Amino acid sequence: EPTDVLEMLEDVTDRFSFQMQQKHIKSNIIVQEGIESVLFDRDQIDQVLDNLVSNSLKYTPDGGLVTLEARLTDDYQLAISVQDTGIGIPKKDIDHIFDRFYRVDKARSRNMGGTGLGLSIAREIVNAHGGIMTLQSELEQGTKVSFILPIVEDGGVMV
Ligand code: ATP
Ligand code: MG
Repeated sequence: EPTDVLEMLEDVTDRFSFQMQQKHIKSNIIVQEGIESVLFDRDQIDQVLDNLVSNSLKYTPDGGLVTLEARLTDDYQLAISVQDTGIGIPKKDIDHIFDRFYRVDKARSRNMGGTGLGLSIAREIVNAHGGIMTLQSELEQGTKVSFILPIVEDGGVMV
């Protein structure tokens, strides 16, 4: 059954609404006009989104903003991104960030809980769907994780 993309992004923020309220973090959802529903493995993509939003909430101080966006690429693939206004990731760590168990210096992650698996699992799921995941980050400015899912005929049709 096709997934309504806007509804999917609203559902993610709903699942985290308690944590967002606690940290006074606001969310913003942007869905490009023309994107309605897409056929793909909703449970798996939910797991990707949950990992990304959970990171944004962990690594964004009180009062921040998390923006979820869905758009179509020039070659009609679905691009989804999760962007925050958090602590960011140092340049030297960005190349390793998708490695299993990798966490940016222990001091800042120690109190946060977690194992360092979230991003590697998220990327594996996206890769398994024929997509790619990338990360951009600026220290003390924020982080944006984007992934692209191919919309293939039959397999994932835009309707
Ligand atoms: P887990 O996801 O297993 O609970 P984790 O969040 O530490 O643990 P990952 O999600 O794989 O592990 O992230 C790896 C590391 O990348 C984190 O420890 C953190 O240092 C950094 N990181 C990930 N997302 C962000 C973000 N949005 N802002 C700043 N740092 C981030
Ligand atoms: Mg994580």
